[in-house]
Amino acid sequence: MLTNSLVELDRRHLVHPVSSFHGHEARGVRLLESAKGARVTDAQGHELIDGFAGLWCVNAGYGHESVVEAAAAQMRKLPYATGYFDLGTEAPIRLAAELADRSPGDLNHVYFALGGSDSVDSTIRFVRYYWHAKGQPERDQFISVESGYHGSSTLGAGLTALSAFHEGFGLPYPWQHKISSHYVYRNPIQGDQAIIDASVAELRAKIEAIGPERVAAFYLEPIQGSGGVLVPPKGWVKAMRAVCSDYGVLFVADEVITGFGRCGPLFACADEEIVPDLMTTAKGLTSGYAPMGAVFMTEHVYQTIAEGAGAKAVGHGFTYSGHPVSAAVALEVLKLYEGGLLENGVKMGQRLLAGLDGLRDHPLVGDVRGRGMLAAVELVTDKEKKTPLPAELQPATRLFDRAWEQGLIIRSFAQGIFGYAPPLCCTEEEIDMIVERTRRVLDLTL
Ligand code: PLP
Repeated sequence: MLTNSLVELDRRHLVHPVSSFHGHEARGVRLLESAKGARVTDAQGHELIDGFAGLWCVNAGYGHESVVEAAAAQMRKLPYATGYFDLGTEAPIRLAAELADRSPGDLNHVYFALGGSDSVDSTIRFVRYYWHAKGQPERDQFISVESGYHGSSTLGAGLTALSAFHEGFGLPYPWQHKISSHYVYRNPIQGDQAIIDASVAELRAKIEAIGPERVAAFYLEPIQGSGGVLVPPKGWVKAMRAVCSDYGVLFVADEVITGFGRCGPLFACADEEIVPDLMTTAKGLTSGYAPMGAVFMTEHVYQTIAEGAGAKAVGHGFTYSGHPVSAAVALEVLKLYEGGLLENGVKMGQRLLAGLDGLRDHPLVGDVRGRGMLAAVELVTDKEKKTPLPAELQPATRLFDRAWEQGLIIRSFAQGIFGYAPPLCCTEEEIDMIVERTRRVLDLTL
């Protein structure tokens, strides 16, 4: 009864993010009630494995009392303090220092945002400010990668390269350019080095076509998430970084998904052996227990902005930048990662990929890919021709529903791709359940 009335209230009043307004009315909401570890319970009392950690964010898993305690203690002591006008409080300062300590290279300066989208937006503003400070305000063109996702705020959504985020919104802006994705499985170019060479040539050609003196920054995700978990060939990210260095173009790594142990280490850039000029993070930073994003800047970027501004304030910030409760949560979550979760994530990630790889014998499985606890299975009806699933199965909700019925939450991308990003706390048994349940969904889809 309570559930029915909630569904009705939802139908009438709640505007859901990234949902079909029209279709949502017909389907109604699916209610979750509680969670522990890697398992969530819905309003009907059914337990499911959360193979997607909420929205690739609950990296530590649900129900950590120490995180709840840290948030409550901070709320009791000081629920809010602004960082504006040189004010501050302990938690965000400590967090910035802990993060700077662990970040690649000299990404020593941390600006806090509220999530991934406004972290990306913040970098666009900082990049523009940087070039003004350097006396090159004409560097105002940005490049990103097809199939990439960089959030849905007004500026960042134009760097995103997924049509649903552009159509009807008048995006992208003319200053937002794209190069092709590596998308190894469907790339007409075969072979890792050949794909890297082609991307290098394309990025160079794009910069030359725009005019090297006009290009401000290049954005990428170390592994593309929302585009379908697209893993680049080893060395691709490094090669893109090298092109940017050649042209003096700022290189921005968007680690909103790949950060905080999702792909193994705390930051995927460490695996790629590169130091970006700026780096965005969110999601796993607080493991979804509170909203927060963090933008990292190298010494050079920070000092250039500082010198350019002189005595003036740099006019960028939000009321909740560096929110003390979110910062207290993030500090505690960091302890959990380093107290064994990162290590467990690496082991479980290997088991997950090995398990999913074992599904390659299934007639519908065209590709299996991933790194750490981030993975995808791409479905096809003809393995030779790599034929995508028929249109009636493609609406992402259909496959998602089937998985849900099997007690598994995954992300089902429109192209017929299953995405996996389970919490790092998963047990071996839970990883095996994810794989077994996936096989059942595949059998039901045949
Ligand atoms: N950047 C990347 C790579 C993302 O995957 C996302 C969200 O999925 C964002 C940015 C936007 O983050 P948020 O949804 O927290 O605004």
